[in-house]
Amino acid sequence: MNSFQGTRQEMVRQQLEDRGIRDARVLDAMAKVPRHRFVDAALQSRAYGDHALPIGAGQTISQPYMVALMTEALQLSGGEKVLEIGTGSGYQTAVLAEFTQRLFSIERSAELARSAAATLKDLGYSNVISKTGDGTLGWPEHAPFDRILVTAGAPEIPPTLFDQLVEGGILAIPVGDRDVQTLEVMVRKDGKALSKRLIECTFVPLLGKEGWTR
Ligand code: SAM
Repeated sequence: MNSFQGTRQEMVRQQLEDRGIRDARVLDAMAKVPRHRFVDAALQSRAYGDHALPIGAGQTISQPYMVALMTEALQLSGGEKVLEIGTGSGYQTAVLAEFTQRLFSIERSAELARSAAATLKDLGYSNVISKTGDGTLGWPEHAPFDRILVTAGAPEIPPTLFDQLVEGGILAIPVGDRDVQTLEVMVRKDGKALSKRLIECTFVPLLGKEGWTR
């Protein structure tokens, strides 16, 4: 039995379609991935609410709308090589895994990386290559990437990540201060970043070796 299926459909209609998410493949992926499996049993009844939730280690699973918006911003047609920074619970990872077989994900917290890998395996997502580490360094061994998604807030775009993006590639990242950021989406064109700003958002900080990445 696919539990929470009705609740998930409602979430897709009310939180995503009604707010302007249009990409049918994104809506399908959001309707398919069982978000409740990425949170603690005690929080499962709130898994389809319009908010982030705690996942341990002081981190959060992102709000469904934000996951859908960021996925849509990547304009995935299938088959792109994607790097995700900030695996967290693995929920956004699973949504991305619905689009591509070439998916790499980096998480700083070993505890979260372990738990996300176990959930993804349990759900049959065998197409994710993940590691524990500092995502601000990217993943040079597998670069360049067609898409890079950063799911934590940074004061600026880490140049190393931009360097690991192919020409024509897209990078999405929340940029701003600790309290509020703007979701920025940039395309690499002739080695330069063409950026557009989508919406204000609040993400947990992207942490580098020395703490916050400034
Ligand atoms: N998208 C995730 C989900 O659906 O559960 C939520 C990601 S959470 C908002 C941000 C994650 O980024 C946290 O798990 C945090 O540990 C991780 N993080 C912060 N700095 C990082 C870094 N430098 N490298 C990799 N992961 C980092």
